[in-house]
Amino acid sequence: MRPGRWTIGIALIAFLAGVAGVFTGRMLIPARAPASELHEVLHHQLKLDADQAARLEAIERQFAIRRHALELELRAANARLADAIQAEHGNGPRVVAAVDGSHTAMGELQKATLAHVFAMRQILRPDQAERFDRAVVKALTADAR
Ligand SMILES: [Zn+2]
Repeated sequence: MRPGRWTIGIALIAFLAGVAGVFTGRMLIPARAPASELHEVLHHQLKLDADQAARLEAIERQFAIRRHALELELRAANARLADAIQAEHGNGPRVVAAVDGSHTAMGELQKATLAHVFAMRQILRPDQAERFDRAVVKALTADAR
């Protein structure tokens, strides 16, 4: 490859990585920010008893592992996208497939986060679940306002 093509290729990847980063950030922040807001409610406002606290901790440990695995998958998908862009320099079949792969990874992460929210809700008493549900709605609609 001539130096000129290299420069363009690298600039293009940097640009798309930036776009992907913003996009990924947008996709992840709505999934994660409500979760952290919910954790605030769970850990500080709902007054969990010792049994609930222990169960919550087990749930958190499981989710931390799952989330880490999914974040690695997402990073790998984005690396494949960068490779495909470098190889095709356009909307070729590898780029299209890599974009789909990246969306799939993001979708899996969102689904896992939601499943985690439901898992946390399971350990709550009805009065706590009611407050938790209000926090879920508030967290999910915070951006829309
Ligand atoms: Zn949690």
